[in-house]
Amino acid sequence: MLFDIVTIFPDFFDSPLKMGMIRKAIEKEVLKVKTTDLRNFTSDRHRTTDDRPYGGGEGMIMTPPPLSRAITTLQSVPPEAKVVFFTPRGRVLNQELALELSCQKRIILICGRYEGIDERIQERFCDLEISIGDYVLSGGETAALVLIEVITRLLPGVLGSPCSAERDSFSDGLLEYPQYTRPRIFMDMEVPQVLVSGDHALIAAWRRRRSLETTFERRPDLLGKASLDDSDKEYLRSLGWEGD
Ligand code: SAM
Repeated sequence: MLFDIVTIFPDFFDSPLKMGMIRKAIEKEVLKVKTTDLRNFTSDRHRTTDDRPYGGGEGMIMTPPPLSRAITTLQSVPPEAKVVFFTPRGRVLNQELALELSCQKRIILICGRYEGIDERIQERFCDLEISIGDYVLSGGETAALVLIEVITRLLPGVLGSPCSAERDSFSDGLLEYPQYTRPRIFMDMEVPQVLVSGDHALIAAWRRRRSLETTFERRPDLLGKASLDDSDKEYLRSLGWEGD
C-alpha cells in the first residue's frame, strides 16, 4: 500500500516512519510512504502556501494553486489514488473506516495547516474527508500518522500473528479483554487463575465475558453494532443491558 503525504512539514514524518511496526512494514515492502513538500509547488520567492481569508477573520487559509499542482502531479502517476483530506468536519476515523481504506492500493493524504484549506480544492479533488476526533489539531500531519498506523496494522503480513489485528479492540465491535504477562504475582495482585489453567475453551469464554463487560461499562454505545450471539446477549442482560 502506498501513502503519498502532501505537507508543508515533510520532516515531521522522518522519525515515526523509522520506528516499530511501520518501519518493519516498509522493510517488508507491504507499505510505502512518500512525502511531497507542498512548497515545491509554489511559484513565488517566499514559497507561500497561505493567504488571508476572503470575508475577513482570523488566521490564514491554504491557497489553491500549490495544492492543485501537487495533487494533479501525484495523480498523473499510477496507480490511481483516493484523495483524503484531514479536517475536523470529516468522517470520524474508526476501525471500520480503517478496514475499508486498507483495501486501497494508494491514498494521497492532504495535510491542512493554518485555518484550513480553500474550499474549492476540496470540492475539486477530495474523495473523503477524515477527522481523527472531536478536537482541533494544528495540522493534518498528526492525523496522517494516526491513519497510516491504524491501516498498517491491518495490512496482510504486518503483525506477527495474522489474528492479532482481529483480536484488537473494535475489530468485532467490542473493546479488548484485560491482558496480563509475567510475573504471575505483582504487588500482591495475582493473574486471574483461568489464564494459567491451560484450558483454551475456558480462557476464550473468560475473555469474551471480560470484553463484553468492559464494553458495557465504558462504551455501551458500541454494543448496538457489535456482533453478539445469544449467549453474549444473555450475559449482557445479566449485567443490566437493555438492548436486543
Ligand atoms: N479552522 C479549522 C476548523 O475550525 O475546522 C481548523 C484548522 S486546524 C488549526 C489546521 C488543520 O489541522 C486542518 O486543516 C486539518 O488538516 C488539521 N486538523 C485539525 N483538527 C483535526 C482533526 N480533528 N482531524 C483531522 N485533521 C485535523
